[in-house]
This record gives sequence, structure tokens and C-alpha cells, in this order.
Amino acid sequence: MEKAFAQWPPSLWSENSLNWNFPEISSSQSYDVVIVGAGYSGLWTAHHLLNLNPSLSIAILDAQQPGFGASGRNGGWCSAFSPMSLEAVAAQSNKQGAIDLQNTLVTSVDEIGAHIANSNIECGWHKGGTLSFASNQLQLDRIRENISMSRHFGFDDSFMDYLTPDQAKDCVRIQDCLGASYSPHCAALQPAQLVDGLVKQLLSRNVQFFGSSRVSHITSHRVSADTSKGSVSIDSKWIIRATEGFTARMKQYRRDVAPLYSYMIATEPLSDSQWKDIGWSNRETVSDGRNLVIYAQRTADGRIAFGGRGAPYKYASRIGSHFDNNANIHSLIEKSMREMFPVIGDSDVTHRWGGALGVHRDWFTSAQIDHKSHIASLGGYVGDGVAFSYVAAKEVATSILGTASDYLPLPIVNHVSPRWEPEPLRYIGINSILRLTNRADETEKRTGRKNRFVNWLLRKLIP
Ligand SMILES: Cc1cc2nc3c(=O)[nH]c(=O)nc-3n(C[C@H](O)[C@H](O)[C@H](O)COP(=O)(O)OP(=O)(O)OC[C@H]3O[C@@H](n4cnc5c(N)ncnc54)[C@H](O)[C@@H]3O)c2cc1C
Repeated sequence: MEKAFAQWPPSLWSENSLNWNFPEISSSQSYDVVIVGAGYSGLWTAHHLLNLNPSLSIAILDAQQPGFGASGRNGGWCSAFSPMSLEAVAAQSNKQGAIDLQNTLVTSVDEIGAHIANSNIECGWHKGGTLSFASNQLQLDRIRENISMSRHFGFDDSFMDYLTPDQAKDCVRIQDCLGASYSPHCAALQPAQLVDGLVKQLLSRNVQFFGSSRVSHITSHRVSADTSKGSVSIDSKWIIRATEGFTARMKQYRRDVAPLYSYMIATEPLSDSQWKDIGWSNRETVSDGRNLVIYAQRTADGRIAFGGRGAPYKYASRIGSHFDNNANIHSLIEKSMREMFPVIGDSDVTHRWGGALGVHRDWFTSAQIDHKSHIASLGGYVGDGVAFSYVAAKEVATSILGTASDYLPLPIVNHVSPRWEPEPLRYIGINSILRLTNRADETEKRTGRKNRFVNWLLRKLIP
């Protein structure tokens, strides 16, 4: 089937997936729940709502089609990690709140895995855990700090453990390995196939999907959507905004979420002898201890999919298909990948793409549920939304339907992040942070020493 829109990113994942072509919403209608955005947040919210009340009438509207956003293009890590440190969550709530959130994320990975298995969603799911490598002493220190932080919150080595260089090499052989941390709470998957599986299930549960329907305004009980035939109003008892990196396009939410681009590449399938050299037989997801995040997985079809953050923020939170490719960033990512895995040798990089993730001003994920206006929203996962969207969606659904008397909200519920600064301060601030982070990594690599000032500043700027 033809793709519904011309500018689909040339992602590895979308090749045989995401062929949805839902019609735009054509007339004023009313529902129990209207969900704006058909990424994981929107899809999981519908899933949890229907688990609690199967008779709800639900419509999901997307400005494009399901999976067009980060959910269809991400690195495929379904992990129990969050953009907030345990310390940061404890500071916003208390130590027990941080522990509860972490335990919920751990459980969510298994719940998602069980759901995928029980519903026969073929998305290359494999729970091999995650490795974070250190290739210099400072990265090793950072990895050890992370482990001791988790111990401070009562998580033992079954949550996260230290691996010696030999133990780490037994899992995956990367260049210059000084040790690693390992946590079992992560699975690798093909993200677009998960979107497809969830959409099919929701269709079978009578959820109505609409594509090419961009919501321009949300008020209590009503959304206005722009379509090719003009503006359409839809009435609803509840409205859920699940628009993540695209949020700033709606005037009323312009300063709520900043979109940051993350970019990925994928190699052609590697040969058996290359895989013998690299190891990686348990398909752990892989990152390292540098400040600017990189992430990799061995795909089910034997490629390396490798991504990196740190691309400059676009003025006024602009977002668009023309940003999905960035030759400069893609070549930096390729360089990092080839340095880490020299055995890739002459094998080609066959796919390059990018997408926007969503960041709140304090880097804190939230699920907002307003019982007066009946408007809810969820997001701000930075680069950790695959499992976290499941958790946030469950909080939204439970709070809306109010069915569980023993329900204890997690610290993300109704957390209010400050708004981003107006431009040009936002542009200057975010890009300064990104440049500083990059500089910290370069200094560490070149001198083996921390740039103390830069590290101090980063701790102040990124809580
Ligand atoms: C390159 C990349 C790699 C990543 N890697 C990982 C990873 O490995 N692991 C991980 O946990 N996380 C990762 N993330 C983050 C993760 O993908 C996201 O946090 C998650 O997919 C967010 O899901 P979402 O449904 O909230 O948003 P999205 O998937 O972005 O969905 C938002 C949807 O809303 C629609 N929309 C927006 N505005 C409107 C509107 N006004 N009207 C109607 N529809 C609208 C969009 O078209 C889109 O389909 C990555 C992100 C990127 C970009």
C-alpha cells in the first residue's frame, strides 16, 4: 500500500510497517474520549482506558498517521530508565516516590513484553538487558556513580551490576572497554511494528482512528481539528493530548515542550563472521558513559542500529520533515559507531533518519490530569518514552476513570514543569547546554580529565 504522505523519513523501521492511511475527520462528532496523537502515549492511553472500561467510545486523531512521530522511528529500547535520576525524583516527591516510580518502570517492561507475547505482536522483542560501556576512566567513574546511586535507593545487583572488562567483552566486544554496567531491565524491539500491533488491536476494540487531522486548539470538552475541508469541532467528555515533540506547534502550548532531534543510522545486515567477532548474542541494548547520549541495538535481522542525541535545537521549536536528515550529525554518529565497532569495516550504512523527542524545562516526565476541564496530557520522556509512555498512560487512564480505590499516583502525576523561556533565550539556552555537553565529552576524551566548570554548569542546567 502507498504511504499516506510523501515525506515519511527513510527509517529502517518504516520499510514494511506504518502503512496506515486513515481518513481525516469529516464531520462534527462526539466521543467519550478524544486522544490527540497516535504515538505510543495515545495508543497506550486508549489501551489502558479500554482495559478499565471496554464500552468507552474513543477516537484517536493524528496530524499525519499513527507512528509518524518518535514512536515509529526510535532506537527500540524498551527500558526501565527514565530521564530523571532517582535523586531528582526524590527531590520532587520523596525517596519512596522515586523507588515506586523505578519499580513501576521495571514492571512495565515485563508487562509490555507479556502483552506483546500474548497478542502475537511480531516486533522482534528480545529482553537481553542493557549494557553501558566505559572507554575512559571518567566514563567508568560515571558508571560506578550510577550504580552506587541505585544502591543508595535500595536497588541491588539484580537491578544494575558492574561488569569487569572481561565480563563486558563476553557480552559485546567494543573497542577500548574498561568495564560496564549491566541491567536486565531492557528489551530491544522494532518500534514501528509495535505501533502497528497496537493500532490493529485498538481497531479490533472499536477505537476510531483519523489521520491528516491536525488539532489546532483544545478547550474543555472540545477539540478543533484542521482538515483539507476546513476546521472540524469534536465534542468529548475527556480530551487527552499526546503530542510530545510536536506540542509547540499548538499556539496554546508553545512553551510547554521543546522538541530536540535525535538521529539514527543502521548498517546493512552484518555477516556471521562479523557477529562472531562482536559477540552480542543476547541482543543487549548498548550505550556508553559519555555525557551526550548514544544508543545502539543489534536488530532482529542482524544489523546495528545506532543513534545519538545532541543535534542543535531549532529556533522557535521548529520541527519538520526537512530536519529528519542531517548529514553532519549522521556522519558523526557513523564515526562513533565505527570507532566502537571497528569490525564493521566496509559494511555499508544503509539507513539514516531522525526524529523529535519532547523535553520539559526541568527534564521531568509528567502525566497531567485536570478533573475540572477534563483535559489530560502526558509526555516529556526525553529519549526514554518507549516504556515510560505505557506507565504515564496507565496513570492517566486510572486517574480519569477513578476505579482503583487504593490508587497511589506516581510522582509524575500532575508534576508541573516550568515553561520554557521565550525566544531567543530558549534557543541560546538549549544550544549552549548541547555545546557544553559536547565540549565536556571532547575534553574528557582528549585529556582524560573532567572539565570541572562545564560539569558544574551542566549539573545546574540539567537537573
Ligand atoms: C530518534 C529517536 C530515538 C529514540 N530512541 C528511544 C529509545 O530507544 N527508547 C526510548 O525509550 N525512547 C526513545 N526515544 C523517545 C521515544 O520514541 C518517545 O519518547 C516516544 O515515542 C514518545 O511517544 P509519544 O506518543 O508521546 O509521541 P510521538 O510518538 O512523537 O507521537 C506524537 C503523535 O502526535 C501527532 N500529533 C502531534 N501534534 C498533533 C496535533 N496538533 N494534532 C494531531 N496529531 C498531532 C504526531 O503526528 C505524532 O504521531 C527516541 C526518540 C527519537 C526521536
